[in-house]
Amino acid sequence: MIQLHNVFFVYPNGTEALHNINLRVEKGEFVFLVGPTGTGKSTLLKLIYCAEHPTKGRVIVAGRDISRLSPREIPLLRRRLGVVFQDFRLLPSRTVWENIAFALKAIGMGRKEICRKLPEVLEIVGLTDKADVYPAQLSGGEQQRVAIARAIVNNPLILLADEPTGNLDPESSLEIVNLLVRINLMGTTVITATHDKYIVDNTRKRVVTLYRGRIVSDKEKGVYEHYAPE
Ligand code: ADP
Repeated sequence: MIQLHNVFFVYPNGTEALHNINLRVEKGEFVFLVGPTGTGKSTLLKLIYCAEHPTKGRVIVAGRDISRLSPREIPLLRRRLGVVFQDFRLLPSRTVWENIAFALKAIGMGRKEICRKLPEVLEIVGLTDKADVYPAQLSGGEQQRVAIARAIVNNPLILLADEPTGNLDPESSLEIVNLLVRINLMGTTVITATHDKYIVDNTRKRVVTLYRGRIVSDKEKGVYEHYAPE
């Protein structure tokens, strides 16, 4: 589903964020991408959702080499991906329903189909009774569930989550990760970047550890290990 081959990424200011990354994620996998802040996790996700192009190497998503996609082709790729962030990125003046519907209107979906899809996705994230409230009236965990609903409402092949529990208490964090696991079990490939040991150790999924832009370990049913170079 996702392959990175000998990928390097250098920011315009000269910071090398990724160094010779080789990674393969199969359809239906759940992967935690872990490592300390500033180690390249967000950058790696950005390459997969095409917010950045690799400086060197190839990135293949759903069978397509996206390393050199033209700006015109990027929206088509993005429709197959859902992305959630630490800060939720909801529209504060729109209700839960409108926040999610917005994503579907943006891709040209009609009102009727939107009204069919919304209740399904609200049910999945457990927010059926909150459809008409505004983000400020929700807890952090609930806001993140809205963001997840918006990311999955278009049935993406892949869901990318960048520090999705970074603003949440441990209990809400685990709820969010359990939701991501349920979405994964419905068939979506999930990659979650995190430096939250608690959620990683309580989920026991594949753990890919990054350190200073390099993959230093990759374990099935792993735990969060603090990598320290010799
Ligand atoms: P993480 O997600 O693990 O915290 P990032 O991918 O955000 O790490 O950052 C990796 C490295 O790239 C860090 O050294 C960071 O300072 C640097 N970096 C991130 N974004 C930019 C940017 N826009 N310009 C320059 N350097 C950046």
